[in-house]
Amino acid sequence: MRLKIVQVGEPVLRQTARPLALDEIGSAETQHLIEWMRDTMRDAPGVGLAAPQVGLPIRLAVIEDRAEYFKGASPEQLAEREREPVPFQVLINPHIVERSDEQVEFFEGCLSVAGSSALVKRSRSITVQCRDERGAERRIEAKGWYARILQHEIDHLDGQLYIDRMESRSLTNLENFNRYWKERRIEEVRQALGIHG
Ligand code: ZN
Repeated sequence: MRLKIVQVGEPVLRQTARPLALDEIGSAETQHLIEWMRDTMRDAPGVGLAAPQVGLPIRLAVIEDRAEYFKGASPEQLAEREREPVPFQVLINPHIVERSDEQVEFFEGCLSVAGSSALVKRSRSITVQCRDERGAERRIEAKGWYARILQHEIDHLDGQLYIDRMESRSLTNLENFNRYWKERRIEEVRQALGIHG
């Protein structure tokens, strides 16, 4: 089943989502929701989807990054972004327990801010503690694009969107992103847009 992805302006995207109790994780309702969120994310397609994006203020997100999603990118771009496939996984009640001081900046988008992209700085690596779809505790050490996806999805559970963190002068629609910015190095982008510091 495909769920409706809500768009920016919908109040649920600005709420702090509530944690799931252990017995809720195993319920048929939650298990179906996970399946539907997986199908909805793949259909979009996207690399992550948080429950508030389908209208539910609960601390649950799914992520997956497939090689086919970045087949258009050059090896240099992939290396710079440290982007590698991430298998499908479910994050329940996740929190970031450690993050690197080092930050990296790239264009980012969101299925709930459809049609736009902007530069966002994120920690290069993070450690996340969460539960999986069976309720088991998990500790995830992630870096590069994987760490970026996790930070983006966990933000959703706190009512935060990438537009709250973006370099506002870099905001672009996707047509212009593909036309002007996609192939350029971030340093060049910053210079061309008059972003300093
Ligand atoms: Zn998003």
